[in-house]
Amino acid sequence: MSLPADYHMHTPLCRHATGEPTDYAAHALKVGLKEIGFSEHNPMIRDDYDDWHMLQGDLDAYVEKVHQARRDHPGLTIKLAMEVDYLPGHENWIRELAARHPWDYFIGSVHYVADSWDLDNPKKLSEWKKRDPLEVWTAYFERLAQATASGLFEIIGHADLPKKFCFYPQQDCTHLFERFLQTAKDHDVAIELNTAGLRKDCKEIYPSRTILEIAAQKGVPITFASDAHAITEVGMNFEDAVQLARSVGYQECCRFTQRRRETVTL
Ligand SMILES: [Zn+2]
Ligand SMILES: [Zn+2]
Repeated sequence: MSLPADYHMHTPLCRHATGEPTDYAAHALKVGLKEIGFSEHNPMIRDDYDDWHMLQGDLDAYVEKVHQARRDHPGLTIKLAMEVDYLPGHENWIRELAARHPWDYFIGSVHYVADSWDLDNPKKLSEWKKRDPLEVWTAYFERLAQATASGLFEIIGHADLPKKFCFYPQQDCTHLFERFLQTAKDHDVAIELNTAGLRKDCKEIYPSRTILEIAAQKGVPITFASDAHAITEVGMNFEDAVQLARSVGYQECCRFTQRRRETVTL
């Protein structure tokens, strides 16, 4: 099976990943990938916002690390990107970041459902316990739809991230998924199949088969993502992700160059 591009991987600059981009690239070649993209967590509007994003002063160093990986591995296509946190009010900051380098794509992710709660942060599990999961999932998908409609992103990251620690609503959430995916379709934004979910408590690719089935019906484009935070995670479980995509009817995925999309046969 020829594997699709892995468009989501990190570097030590976010302070919670290990391994240099050039070593991720070497591993990508080893596991048979032909294309990858680095998507480090963006610098936030203030460096003290939290402790898991790249610092503003490291942005050029990040770009240089990706260039180094390109120089070291001319046989691999390497895209320059970022995973950018969407928060209402940060739009102009995100536009400023977009203007600084010739990015191939931005992955828009929602980790923060409130200014100070990143819901996938294991140090903040107590926040989940204070709330009804439906309330959190609703707020999350509303914000995700807002990110999707913002025009700032080519791809939406790990669409059902709130399942990470298995806090599932009792109620049916189809209407939340429908609204988000219709927004993706209307704004021509892709979603990723992110295999990191398999390595979390939820033990499932992001997004779920249910969400992916709706996405396929609507014709929302897809990309593939390991969300690697370590060298050996590059391309991890990609066969499973491709199989899932095909099983709901996808025959194509997409790639990006300088923020323009191309369709690739899966
Ligand atoms: Zn991370
Ligand atoms: Zn993320």
